[in-house]
Amino acid sequence: MQKISYILKTLIFGGEVSLAVCDTTALVREAIRRHHLSPVAAAALGRTMSATAYLCSWLKDEESSLSVTVAGDGAGGKICVAGDGALHLRGFAERPEVSLPPRADGKLDVGGFVGRCGTLTVIRDDGEGIPFVGTSELVSGEIAEDISAYFLTSEQRPTAVALGVKIAPDGDCIAAGGVFLQPLPGASEEAIARAEEAIAGFSRISSRIEEEGAERIVASFSPETDAERREIFFRCHCSRERISSVIASLGKQEAENIIREQGKISVYCHYCNTTYDFTGEEVAAIFSEEGKHEG
Ligand SMILES: [Zn+2]
Repeated sequence: MQKISYILKTLIFGGEVSLAVCDTTALVREAIRRHHLSPVAAAALGRTMSATAYLCSWLKDEESSLSVTVAGDGAGGKICVAGDGALHLRGFAERPEVSLPPRADGKLDVGGFVGRCGTLTVIRDDGEGIPFVGTSELVSGEIAEDISAYFLTSEQRPTAVALGVKIAPDGDCIAAGGVFLQPLPGASEEAIARAEEAIAGFSRISSRIEEEGAERIVASFSPETDAERREIFFRCHCSRERISSVIASLGKQEAENIIREQGKISVYCHYCNTTYDFTGEEVAAIFSEEGKHEG
């Protein structure tokens, strides 16, 4: 098992299909640690994070960013994941504590957690004017089929997706990852059919990540290939400095009102489950610092 999450990308089937395999075990472990996720919440958020890492791997540069919101009618509420071209990801599930009984086949009931009715929305910002917004209807709430439907309806790119997260009885992540097969524009019908056929062999992708590792999965398609390898990290953009500037933007009057009513200003970051508390003195310092800059 890898201590760092990563994605491998290469071309297969005579260069007609892009293959990506990611091992996101470490990423999901970090999400569990930060958010105290139930096993099914870890599976739902983990699968969404693997899919987001794949989407981020197509961004044109490190400054470009995107977010994926899965808004279904399931017990777990919304799932939100954001990331950038540097493959720094952050994310949360609205109700991380919700547990559900396993499905009849023994798998975690991600579809029940997410819900089968609702939408999957991707907002992509390439730093060039208006961000791209794509939305598709959920298919099963199991994430892989939902992402596949998103690619087809919003980006007109048929993409075969397998996602999995394996959770130990103690709630930790044993293995997590995904396989993505995306025919390039102009790919033959035969290549598209082969991609769809190949993905059917990945119904237990997390076990394959655990037993074989991402490299051997790539090699099973193309032993010769020299896949591009990029690391993936759980990293939030929030910091005390950033929150200070948010407080500064409230204006001195409003900030002082909150201090008077609540004794402090608390700002919560959903993405990494961190609360930033500012005392009256600290808030006063923000505005005196601001004054100095203006002077
Ligand atoms: Zn944060």
